[in-house]
Amino acid sequence: MVEEERKITNRITSSHKKLSGLSQVERITQIKEVPVVAQYDVVVCGGGPSGFIAAIAAARGGARTALIERYGFLGGMATAALVAPISVFNYNGRRVIDGIPWEFIERLIDIDGAREEKPLGNITFSPEKYKLIAQRMVLEAGVSLYFHSYLTGCKKSGNRLTHIFIENKNGTEAIAAKYFIDCTGDADLAFQSGVPMQSLSTELQPATLIFMLGGVNTDLLPKIRHSQQGVNYHDLDMRRVLEEQGKKEKLPQFGGPWYCGVLENGLVLVNITRTHADMADNRQSTNAECLLREDVFTFVKFLKQNIAAFKEVYLVNTAPQAGTRETRRIKGVYTLKGEEYIEAFNFPDAISRGCHPVDIHSSKSNNQRCEFLKDAAFIPYRSLIAPGFPNLLVGGRALSADGVSSASVRVQASVMGLGQAVGVAAALCARSGLDVSEVDIAELRKVLISYGANLTK
Ligand SMILES: Cc1cc2nc3c(=O)[nH]c(=O)nc-3n(C[C@H](O)[C@H](O)[C@H](O)COP(=O)(O)OP(=O)(O)OC[C@H]3O[C@@H](n4cnc5c(N)ncnc54)[C@H](O)[C@@H]3O)c2cc1C
Repeated sequence: MVEEERKITNRITSSHKKLSGLSQVERITQIKEVPVVAQYDVVVCGGGPSGFIAAIAAARGGARTALIERYGFLGGMATAALVAPISVFNYNGRRVIDGIPWEFIERLIDIDGAREEKPLGNITFSPEKYKLIAQRMVLEAGVSLYFHSYLTGCKKSGNRLTHIFIENKNGTEAIAAKYFIDCTGDADLAFQSGVPMQSLSTELQPATLIFMLGGVNTDLLPKIRHSQQGVNYHDLDMRRVLEEQGKKEKLPQFGGPWYCGVLENGLVLVNITRTHADMADNRQSTNAECLLREDVFTFVKFLKQNIAAFKEVYLVNTAPQAGTRETRRIKGVYTLKGEEYIEAFNFPDAISRGCHPVDIHSSKSNNQRCEFLKDAAFIPYRSLIAPGFPNLLVGGRALSADGVSSASVRVQASVMGLGQAVGVAAALCARSGLDVSEVDIAELRKVLISYGANLTK
């Protein structure tokens, strides 16, 4: 059965080749006039956890700011891939990521949209309430929102970006700005601008299609709470069952499994599927979506048969997209290295923190490598800018970092911290007219600390 499913998805890939009708890639030139529909101080591309926080920070800093998002809602992986929980704001019980990111969590808690699990500062949340509060905070800050708008390219003068191109129902539109922030996760804007990328390992971390189950007996499922430092909350019992069964029949690849509640009775998100795919490549991501959807149905049946809490479950939905853990990262002015990150080396230009373990999922096996930090780590500003690109900043998981440090920074609380930093930096640049590499670091850190960022202890 599983073999048959894999044949189906293999057929999808080979049919792309056959049906494309081309033996090799042809190139044509497309010339068209594009209207410049708006002009801002700062344009943020990507409305995920780093991007919507960046837009709020830039706008609160006095910059006229726009936020571009391909979906009709904010939250990125948190809402589009149903990635839960939001990990983590605390290290050994003390809050190390603070300011606008934590203000967002408090606003969510206020409408019963989140629960803090102490001492980690781990956040279980309602994806729908997340979308609502993110959008409210962005609009309250005075940000212009462009939903259903796909960033497809940019115009430059030398290495200075002048416009981005977006595609939406109006056609192609150009937006001008003085500074640009790339929070697309996949470094789409930096890539389109010609910023060199890190050479990545051939084993990118896997893509995962998360799904929501209804009818779960949550009283029988204690693993939906995450409340202890140094514990990896996967379901060891279920893992053993999967491993045993895997010896008898060919099962799809799996991780965890990890479960997370969404604050509603009987509903649980399940993170179990995985496949290797470069999700920044259209054909590979199409293939991954199809394969993982088949796997979801296999696993729902499996969970129903093997876990008492899941006996009566039904599939509510799969996430709108398969979650992407790793794709492009820029080669920045500085590349954050695993050793200095784990040792909590304090950089003079530290602008945010990380406190999640290094978390590397294998895409070729069912394994995961977890390494715990010696203390809450620091992230330097230089890893968010690229040499020679005077008006581009990169927030979120596409920062300049090696495979080890990025495997911790990529989680949601830390990328929100990066969003806050690039938003403040862009607003300072918009005021001074300086290049992003000329930002007054002392001033940047002062503003971040005044917002609540913890950059010292
Ligand atoms: C399966 C899985 C499990 C995970 N588990 C956890 C966990 O337990 N805890 C945790 O904290 N983190 C977890 N993560 C990591 C975390 O979700 C992501 O690393 C984080 O969301 C990255 O934030 P970001 O803002 O950099 O990018 P994203 O969240 O990817 O946001 C990017 C945004 O940009 C938009 N976008 C992208 N390209 C374009 C374009 N060309 N035009 C317009 N818009 C665009 C996207 O729609 C999206 O809204 C997990 C990730 C995955 C995939």
